[in-house]
Parts: sequence; structure tokens; C-alpha cells
Amino acid sequence: MPSNSFFSPIVPQLVPYVPGEQPKIANLVKLNTNENPYPPSPKVIAAITQAAQQGLQLYPDPDANLLREAIAAQHGLAATHVFVGNGSDEVLAHAFFAFFQQGCPLLMPDISYSFYKVYCRLYGIEARAVPLDDTLRLNVADYGGADGDAVAGVVIANPNAPTGIGLPLSDIEALLQMHPDRVVLVDEAYVDFGGQSSLGLVARYPNLLVVHTLSKSRSLAGLRIGYACGQAHLIGALERVKNSFNSYPLDRLAIAGGVAAFDDVAYFEQSRQAVMSSREGLALALEDLGFVVLPSQANFLFVRHPKHDAGELAGALRDRGVLVRHFKQPRIEQYLRISVGTPVQCDQLVLALAAHLSGYPGLGDQSARLCGVLSSGASA
Ligand code: PMP
Repeated sequence: MPSNSFFSPIVPQLVPYVPGEQPKIANLVKLNTNENPYPPSPKVIAAITQAAQQGLQLYPDPDANLLREAIAAQHGLAATHVFVGNGSDEVLAHAFFAFFQQGCPLLMPDISYSFYKVYCRLYGIEARAVPLDDTLRLNVADYGGADGDAVAGVVIANPNAPTGIGLPLSDIEALLQMHPDRVVLVDEAYVDFGGQSSLGLVARYPNLLVVHTLSKSRSLAGLRIGYACGQAHLIGALERVKNSFNSYPLDRLAIAGGVAAFDDVAYFEQSRQAVMSSREGLALALEDLGFVVLPSQANFLFVRHPKHDAGELAGALRDRGVLVRHFKQPRIEQYLRISVGTPVQCDQLVLALAAHLSGYPGLGDQSARLCGVLSSGASA
């Protein structure tokens, strides 16, 4: 065992984020990490292929300006309002470093993206978990900070993960107005699946930072692109941090693929509509099987079955070749988070659940409401 004297004292204190399983077994129905079930736009593949054929011996543009311009144009902003990073996880990490090391607690929901607490530990930021209510909804009135205590800022996911529940813009504005001297970070990783984006508030609120990813609605989890939008002073601070860490977080392939993803608006619209429509079918099918399904504005559903233990259900599904996410965490240990798949994948999940719930060892209950091809006869 190597001596502890090798390590910086913080290393044993870290509690790293645990990503969902990326299975090595073929043919599993993978509904555990909220990836998009559809491939990226063919234009993205063409752009990456072309980029691979020229210039890989050269460093990429350290500022990824072409991509920042494409993102800015999409959202009606200037490129100086956009910061890009290697996945939104990296963007979040830089934002925590740049804005929240204030010597007072950072407010966040008790149930939210678990990486937020990991960054807090890494940077020595005190995380103050503000409980969601009994229905797992966020009440902005709880974010005032107790008795006028100083706070380092606020971080929320909207729609929230893993609940999928979205907040209206009026609530985001209330948070921004409660803390005019602190950054309010709104992580909109899932917003394209039906949430209300706060990007339109960027021009009015100097304390708003909105973080997006290309991993979900643009099917590019494997390319690693995330970005933040905010006023130029916030973007400048992020650039100082990034340029003290890694000059070239986005490679040439990612920059080219990212630009093409924003160019292909029609593909983006089609694939997010397909996911939203499967989500509604899947929610109904799960309700038919007795599940309680939280209203979701994301590409996943957060569900529980009043009569069946969630951990046991996740294990049974795995045995039947379907992966979903179960968090062994207080308050949500009886929930499963299920990513919305293709209609075929949704049907496979529903059949596997129906089979398990009705005690069949093999095929499921054929009368279960199906979401896609098996019910409609279509060939997707
Ligand atoms: N925010 C939330 C709420 C997420 O669920 C995820 C995905 N795990 C991320 C950010 C990070 O996504 P990525 O690093 O792939 O952009």
C-alpha cells in the first residue's frame, strides 16, 4: 500500500461522482444515463470526418470561436456571452471554482445532480442542501438564506435531475432577485425536452449563468461539449479559470461536430420531438402497470411503484437485460430514473416490467399498453 505521504491531504477526503454504468455486455437496453437514444445528425458525422482529415497535427482554436459563434447565433446572444468546455461537467467545475468559493454556503436542492456536492468538496465550498417539498418540488421561498445569512450563490438544475420537474421562469427571476450580488447557476442540461429556458434573461441579469450540454438533446454525449451563457464579466471569469487549467478543452473534432449540430436545426427538432412523444407514451404505460410517475420535462421519468421495492425492480430489470438508474439515497430510494428510449426500447422496458410484476419468468404480459412498434406495428 503506497504511503499517504504521496498524496495531497484533500485526496483521501474526496467523494468522487459515480456515473451510471456503461455496460460491456452487448444488447442491453440502456436506459440508465439519460443519453439520447437517437444518433447525432448525419451532418455532425460528416463534419467530424472532414475535420479528422485535415489539421489534426495542429492544436485547435483555444477559444473555439466558431462554435461559440454558432451557439450565440442560436440563442440570439453575442459570442462574448458564451463559454464552452469539455462537457457541461467541466463547465460546471470551472463555474464552481470561479463563483462559489466565497467562504459561505452554496444553496442547492437536497435532491439534485449529485456532481454539485462533489465539486463543493473538491473546492472546499460548503454545500447547503435545501429540502425539496414532500412532492419533490422546489419552493423558491426556501432560498432566501436563513436570517439574511451570507450565501455563496445558488445552483439548481431546471428541469431538476433526477426528478424531471421543471420550474417556471418567474421562479428563476425570483431567485435572481433574491441574490443580486451572487451568481445563480441554472443547469439546463435537459431543458430542450419541454422546460422553460432562462437564456432570455441573460441580458437583464448580471448574476445569471445558464449551463447547457450537447450530450442530451443533440445526441453528443460521446463528443463532450457543454457551454455556459452569461454576461461578458461572468464569461471572462470562466475564461481566466479555464486558461489556468487547460488551453484546449475542445478538440478539432468537437468544434467541427458542435458547429454542425447547431446548423442542423431540423434534425434537432425532430429528435427532441420524438423523445418527448415517447416519454408521454411511456408514462401512460408505466401508470397502467401501477407506477406513480412524476411529471417530467426531461428525457427521463422518475417513477415509483407503491407495492414494489425500487432496488429489487432495478435488479429484476437488469436480469431481463434492461438497465435503469436506482439511487440509494435518502428520500428517493424508492424511485427509479428511467431514460426515455426509442419506441422499441420503451416497449422492451414495459414488457420486462410487466413480466416481472406478473411473475412470468419469460415474456411479459401481452396486454400491457405498449409505447411504440409492438403496439402500432410500425417499424422504427
Ligand atoms: N447536468 C446535469 C443535470 C446532468 O444530468 C448531466 C449529465 N450527467 C450533466 C450536467 C453533465 O453532462 P455533460 O458533462 O455530458 O455535458
